[in-house]
Amino acid sequence: MEIAAALETTLQDFPGKIAAEVFTRGCNFRCPHCHARQVLEGSLPPVREDDFLDFCSSSGGWVNGVSICGGEPALQPDLEEFVKKVRALGLSVKIDTNGSCPEVLEKLLSAGLVDYAAMDIKGPPYLWDSITGVKCPADRIKESMLVVQCFPQYEFRTTAVPVLRADDTISFITPEEMENTARFITEHTGRKDHRYFIQKFIPRENGLLDVRMEKFPETPFQLLEQMEKAVRKYLPEVQLRGC
Ligand code: SF4
Repeated sequence: MEIAAALETTLQDFPGKIAAEVFTRGCNFRCPHCHARQVLEGSLPPVREDDFLDFCSSSGGWVNGVSICGGEPALQPDLEEFVKKVRALGLSVKIDTNGSCPEVLEKLLSAGLVDYAAMDIKGPPYLWDSITGVKCPADRIKESMLVVQCFPQYEFRTTAVPVLRADDTISFITPEEMENTARFITEHTGRKDHRYFIQKFIPRENGLLDVRMEKFPETPFQLLEQMEKAVRKYLPEVQLRGC
């Protein structure tokens, strides 16, 4: 698998696990707020898969999970083989996805290979093209949502990002737009009991795909609280992340 970068351990990404984290190269979206430009471009020195697996197996039980992030991991043709190798070490697996490859998720689900799936819901569907920077495959995203909710553990999450508007201005996604996101999730899945996170946007100098987003501040806490209140009507288990 093409690993663009790796972190030795994280306590924050995989609930209940001390996880090693890999970032796969490449993505089919171009979210203007994306932090992962170097991962998308593959401009970092690549990490050899064997080296990463050696690290995991020599951790002496300190690491008990692997979180596979991107980029978009589901674009990797040998993702399933990689996951099998991780599981063979006795480690749990979490995968992050933008939801564009439902058939890959379905395969991982049927094979029982993934313990935790985390899927981005970028906003209400009418903003998806703008927030992803591409003609977003809406039907595939919707299909993936139905698959993701069948994994043993899963979450949906939305980052409260600045959005490029039709008039070329940029403004934060609004509480009303977040409420519409939550309503869409409940209506599409027929359920309200999802684990759902609203994540804070954090700017990064010389790192975002659209440099105009770098000028934005972090999502203000007051705005996040308004979003949480608006979303709770539809998704009572909403939590703020990164605050
Ligand atoms: S933020 Fe968007 S462009 Fe960046 S890795 Fe995620 S889905 Fe891809």
